[in-house]
Amino acid sequence: MVKNLVVGAGFSGAAIANLIADKSDEKVLVIDKKEHIAGNSYDYTDENGIKIHKYGSHIFHTNNEKVWQFIKQFTDFNTYMHQVVAVIDGIETTIPFNINTLYDVFPHTLAKRLEEKLLKAFEYNSKVPILEFQKQADADLKFLAKYVYEKVFLHYTNKQWGNTPDEVDSAVTARVPVYISCDNRYFQDKYQGIPLYGYTKAVEKMLRHPNIEVKLNTDYKNLSGEFDRIFYTGSIDEFFDYKFGQLPYRSVNFKLETHDKEYYQCNSVVNYPCNYDFTRIHEYKYYLDDKSDKTVIAKEYSEAFEIGKNERYYPIPKEENIALYNKYLEEAKKLNNVYFLGRLGDYKYYNMDQAIERAIDLFEELK
Ligand code: FAD
Ligand code: UDP
Repeated sequence: MVKNLVVGAGFSGAAIANLIADKSDEKVLVIDKKEHIAGNSYDYTDENGIKIHKYGSHIFHTNNEKVWQFIKQFTDFNTYMHQVVAVIDGIETTIPFNINTLYDVFPHTLAKRLEEKLLKAFEYNSKVPILEFQKQADADLKFLAKYVYEKVFLHYTNKQWGNTPDEVDSAVTARVPVYISCDNRYFQDKYQGIPLYGYTKAVEKMLRHPNIEVKLNTDYKNLSGEFDRIFYTGSIDEFFDYKFGQLPYRSVNFKLETHDKEYYQCNSVVNYPCNYDFTRIHEYKYYLDDKSDKTVIAKEYSEAFEIGKNERYYPIPKEENIALYNKYLEEAKKLNNVYFLGRLGDYKYYNMDQAIERAIDLFEELK
């Protein structure tokens, strides 16, 4: 029987393992160096009965039918639709910056004028990345673009990436465009929500199969044994012993606080684009409407990834990093039984649905 090894038990590893075990009826050993499954999507219930997302808030959202049908086999979702509040000059408002935001941060007559100009310049419901939005000729819209750039993007992006919005790949800030709309949701995807029993339970079910064995606390570099195929969701530079140099990542430090009150803030996520050293504060009980007299929050601090000090969270999509990744990819192509996938294996800023989509596509390709 074909023996497969999957390195990493996050969404990418769990999805490919499940497909191979279930659809191809082959044996799969899944290893992870962490003491838990689910990778960065890992969540757990704490002593207050609150489901904590250990690596920061995770909201599932997708327009991809194939991905939705796949994940639905393992969990039901609530109908949570994510909104993000941002504090700008002490005012709580909505991010992405939209028409409602105008009325929160500007005097009414100015907001009205800006709204009219926006609706003349753009179609209602259009999404305009900030770097595009800055190219306005009209003086009022120029003023608005400067305001949004400085108040929403400049300091947050500096904190998050150690770079200005112009220095990071344009796709990064385009994730949160200026939205010519009154829709306050962070995502407009058809399907969105939080798994009713959490992400870890969903991944556990994905991995619960007679053909799958899971070994935790097991690093690939210490593993012996022969395998017909390897699916590697760890960082591709590490696999090749950093022979061309290290791929840079951003890491994150979450400082958890328990507060002796029912709620700490007005929303699950509050961004601080202009103040403080942290980027945002997460309050976890909102996601599954957990009932407790206490509440748990996490302040999110971004920092550079360093081997041995912290974890890899975000690949940094920049030209020179992609060029370095491509060198590793060329090496990978020389191996005929090792496949790389996932946020770390592909060095791509995947959301969970994109990680699953990549696993499904790879499985289909190999069939
Ligand atoms: P990971 O989850 O990173 O899993 C990789 C696994 O491989 C890890 O468990 C690691 O321990 C293991 N591993 C690595 N190297 C080795 C080795 N040598 N040996 C053994 N094991 C190894 N996505 C969304 O869709 N919605 C969100 O709201 C959202 N919020 C996010 C917030 C933050 C702060 C971050 C960082 C990410 C967020 N994401 C979100 C993205 C989401 O976390 C990823 O899409 C998803 O985790 C990718 O899964 P993966 O399996 O590719 O990688
Ligand atoms: N961003 C920003 N201000 C905000 C929210 C987002 O500048 O209030 C920028 C920032 O560069 C961030 C990127 O948009 O890294 C993507 O934001 P998103 O919320 O998608 O990041 P993630 O949840 O993946 O950390």
